[in-house]
Amino acid sequence: MDESSPAPRKPLLLHRCEQIQLHSHRARLAGKTVGLVATMGALHEGHLSLVEASQHECEVTIVSIFVNPTQFAAHEDLNKYPRTLDSDLEKLSPYQVDAVFAPSAEEMYPPGFSTYIQPPACANRWEGEFRPDHFRGVCTVVLKLFNVTQADVAYFGQKDYQQALVLRRMTEDLNVPVRIQVCPIIRDADGLALSSRNAFLSPEERTQALALSRSLEQAELRVSQGEQDPAVILQLMQTTLQTAGIDQIDYLTLANPETLEPATDLHQPVVAAIACRIGNTRLIDNRLLGQPAAEPPASE
Ligand code: AMP
Repeated sequence: MDESSPAPRKPLLLHRCEQIQLHSHRARLAGKTVGLVATMGALHEGHLSLVEASQHECEVTIVSIFVNPTQFAAHEDLNKYPRTLDSDLEKLSPYQVDAVFAPSAEEMYPPGFSTYIQPPACANRWEGEFRPDHFRGVCTVVLKLFNVTQADVAYFGQKDYQQALVLRRMTEDLNVPVRIQVCPIIRDADGLALSSRNAFLSPEERTQALALSRSLEQAELRVSQGEQDPAVILQLMQTTLQTAGIDQIDYLTLANPETLEPATDLHQPVVAAIACRIGNTRLIDNRLLGQPAAEPPASE
């Protein structure tokens, strides 16, 4: 926190769409810019970095906390996803957050709800192959959040690279008047990308999970040394994951950062991405190769 920033104030906790809509409406009438940080809670430093970015740029910051059922398939971890509202509010207390919007599932999806977004084509790759309706749920809930908060800027993490891309495409395609700002991945000191799901990892699994960031670092190193063959890089990454005992790999890919089509050579910028399971926990990570690690993907 910047020492010169004003004293934090306790955020309003709002549960109803009409309450947050009114709150934002008043802020916008007063000429204030509104920033939105959309989360599923179980907040960590990654989420808080988005809050800081919003606080830095916008006069009003809204954090939404909602574990969105429509982005989980029936067999996924919706019921065991951590729900920690009290400690989340505690973690937000040092920041200038104006309102926390924490709706119930019934508030977001009342009886009779039946309108869903058809996600853009880039949603069909990567996560789309393993979680077919995931982005339909993400796009639908995020568009609802944009509508109720009327945010000028919405902050998303590069951690969910494809999600940020899908949402940027959606806002462009549907002329949604919000700027999507993508912020760098926050990692533990040993490289593990912070995730609410890391809490599910046993100490041994957490050690295994370090292979994700390690393989991305190795890929970066080999590309910076001049390797131009994607197959060589992918083999190297796969060996690193498998040596760590990770054999449930959903995808491991080098792709065009905008279309997510598999890269055929490494003369162009590429994004390396991994999704895998360690025990019962599914983890994702990514890195833009040939750029500084902290560099976020292009945003609006
Ligand atoms: P989630 O609560 O997992 O839905 O994440 C909410 C937002 O936080 C998304 O925009 C994520 O990309 C972002 N986020 C999650 N983990 C990190 C991280 N380690 N670094 C930066 N942003 C993150």
